[in-house]
Amino acid sequence: MLKGKNAIVTGSTSGIGLAIAHTLASEGCNILLNGFADKAAISALVSELQQTYKVKVDYSPADMSKPADIANMASMCDRVFGSTDILVSNAGIQFTAPVEEFPADKWDAIIAINLSASFHAAKAVLPGMKKRNFGRIVNIASVHGLVASEHKAAYVAAKHGLVGLTKVIALENAQANITCNAICPGWVHTPLVQKQIEDKAKEENISVEQATANLLGEKQPNKRFIQPENIGALIAFLCGDNGAAMTGEILTIDGGWTAQ
Ligand code: NAD
Repeated sequence: MLKGKNAIVTGSTSGIGLAIAHTLASEGCNILLNGFADKAAISALVSELQQTYKVKVDYSPADMSKPADIANMASMCDRVFGSTDILVSNAGIQFTAPVEEFPADKWDAIIAINLSASFHAAKAVLPGMKKRNFGRIVNIASVHGLVASEHKAAYVAAKHGLVGLTKVIALENAQANITCNAICPGWVHTPLVQKQIEDKAKEENISVEQATANLLGEKQPNKRFIQPENIGALIAFLCGDNGAAMTGEILTIDGGWTAQ
């Protein structure tokens, strides 16, 4: 369905971003991977995607906290593949603490990576998308773009900001064939969430299994993790012809979290 389209997926060496890269590649997209991992793991990932899906795959080491790196990543995609048709801004980090104990450097890093990076990336790819009259931008926000949880000041602020940024980009490009949408997942079992589970288990002196059950039970009515492949499939839909009129949408995939 997306054969020959060129996609950047930030933070695609792990978790949700990796699943998105797989789904888009399986639809025929060439993929520019990004994120942190050791050299061997990155080469293995590039080869795996190339061989499995017979698409072009490359890797950008851009650090999403650095605007100049983000601009380089966008120009690399144009240089290597010929254009950037799809941008999935997915890279993200987490840190939890009450506001009065929240380290200022953690606040700055989360705002930079979870919010500002999406602005810089969109800014870099939009001129090319406008020229070709095609573009699909998907920002991976979170249920925390719509509702809050305690101890997540920077994350909640960044994700609420990302929801707002998504709507502005959608409006500014509504008359071009360029859409911008945000996806707001609930709990997905990735390294980012595993760390929170292990921290909770330690803090409350309970088993990891109990901490996992508590985590799901507290917020997510279906009490199951969201599968990252389901997020990939939603993005493939948004990037295809049937998604052409969906823009400025804030789509939850959250097992009922925000229905409460
Ligand atoms: P993850 O930790 O598994 O993956 C994060 C990815 O971002 C990795 O590839 C990592 O290398 C990359 N990354 C981190 N800092 C970076 C930087 N400075 N520059 C470039 N890449 C960087 O996490 P995940 O759970 O897959 O999260 C992916 C996105 O989904 C994040 O934006 C997160 O906020 C969002 N999200 C996750 C959940 C969840 O439950 N896991 C729920 C809602 C939203």
